[in-house]
Amino acid sequence: MTDTPTQLFIGGAWVDAADGATMPVDDPATGEILCHVADAGPKDARLAEEAAVQAQQEWARTAPRARSEILRRAYEIILDRVDELAHLMTSEMGKPLAEARGEVAYAAEFFRWFSEEAVRIDGGGGILPDGRNRMLLSRRPVGPCLLITPWNFPLAMGTRKIGPAIAAGCTMILKPAPQTPLSSLALAAILKEAGLPDGVLNVVTTSRAGEMCEPLLRGGRIRKLSFTGSTQVGRILLAQSADAVVRTSMELGGNAPFIVFDDADLDVAVDGAMLAKMRNMGEACTAANRFFVHSSVADEFGRRLAERMGALVVGPGTRDGVDVGPLIDRTGRAKVEELVADAVERGAEVLVGGRTPEGPGSFYPPTVLAGVDPESRLMDTEIFGPVAPILTFDDEDEVVRRANDTPWGLVGYVFTEGLERALRVSERLEVGMVGLNTGLVSNPAAPFGGVKQSGLGREGGRVGIEEFLEYQYLAVPVR
Ligand code: NAP
Repeated sequence: MTDTPTQLFIGGAWVDAADGATMPVDDPATGEILCHVADAGPKDARLAEEAAVQAQQEWARTAPRARSEILRRAYEIILDRVDELAHLMTSEMGKPLAEARGEVAYAAEFFRWFSEEAVRIDGGGGILPDGRNRMLLSRRPVGPCLLITPWNFPLAMGTRKIGPAIAAGCTMILKPAPQTPLSSLALAAILKEAGLPDGVLNVVTTSRAGEMCEPLLRGGRIRKLSFTGSTQVGRILLAQSADAVVRTSMELGGNAPFIVFDDADLDVAVDGAMLAKMRNMGEACTAANRFFVHSSVADEFGRRLAERMGALVVGPGTRDGVDVGPLIDRTGRAKVEELVADAVERGAEVLVGGRTPEGPGSFYPPTVLAGVDPESRLMDTEIFGPVAPILTFDDEDEVVRRANDTPWGLVGYVFTEGLERALRVSERLEVGMVGLNTGLVSNPAAPFGGVKQSGLGREGGRVGIEEFLEYQYLAVPVR
């Protein structure tokens, strides 16, 4: 903690906010203040923008191999410091250390993946159909980018954007969530150490997100917005991006269905449910939000899931043996409490959990609800907590219709031993990703993203770098 930077990172230098403002960073396990970091305002945003704009042309001309090697070095430094970064993440975000270590490794992998993609950016060309003209296609970076990230995966949501932006030759301003600025500042220090030129990455921590970002989006010098966060904020940013026709990538909220058919292997389904629900204490866009279980196996599934959820140890993420850390803050916990109370009022049975513990921090116990009324609010709200609501179904068409009956479409989970049913149902689900007999889909080599109001574009995979590249077409006559 003592060496972690707490200032803004602009033009390769660590600086205070222009007006000297700072903001506290809390430990969600105790509610106490961990430290203060610089709280940027519009003037700092302009300085960061200037640094990114100034660095853009030269950075775009850097050899792809040089950009690749910076990412590769940063990947190696992150892996050398897994424990240190995991402790930092747990202290500001709350997730248990084992999960934080997992996220650090996952975050690093985006740098390795995009270090490999940086040298494979290709163009194309050929003779056009009329035979009179040639076409030469080249790829160029889209330009200075604004990257906005949420608090739930403080490192990986950053590397998933910074990795492809560096690989493509873009400069950038990163605005992390105010709850978890420290992981992003530590990442900036690592990239500097890895040799990233000044001004390519600028990090502005702020509690004044709207005031800071809106002028950047409307100003015309930022050419790309890559946002991960809620659908509600995504809509606002899309509207703000319209003025200067800023290119956007949107990784927004989810409302994942988790479907268990009567022919599913229940051991596999319960293992999948634990992953899909409990990763990150349920604070994940990919979290299973609605469990649809065939009525013939629903009691057995509910009993087994409640047993597994009830055995998890809740406590501060830094303590040995803890499986479930605190939620991000008391506001987040209050929302989960309200959603559970609403479901119970409408007749849901609490199989396990459901009671907020006394004491400091924002802990909430793993909870399973059975017999949930489809009209309950948690059916159309991201729960963002360790709560598994179970509903039953009898018919394949019916469950597909209910699963798709939501404005979101990020991910769905399907559990069945029938190959044809697995493929048929997956194809009918209106989602960007499907976990088939697995509760985990995220992987840096796969395109991550959703349809409908879950977003626009993809991160990771071969297509991840495309979001940061433009085509230029040269017409050359054949003489
Ligand atoms: P959020 O409230 O939408 O905030 C996300 C980021 O946007 C934060 O840095 C936030 O800063 C910033 N922000 C909010 N209003 C802004 C504005 N007017 N202008 C510029 N920036 C603004 O989401 P969250 O609560 O941090 O994260 C949880 C959400 O993220 C969930 O909906 C989850 O599903 C989604 N998520 C999606 C993915 C995905 O890949 N699809 C991955 C992870 C999370 P402030 O907090 O200071 O406003």
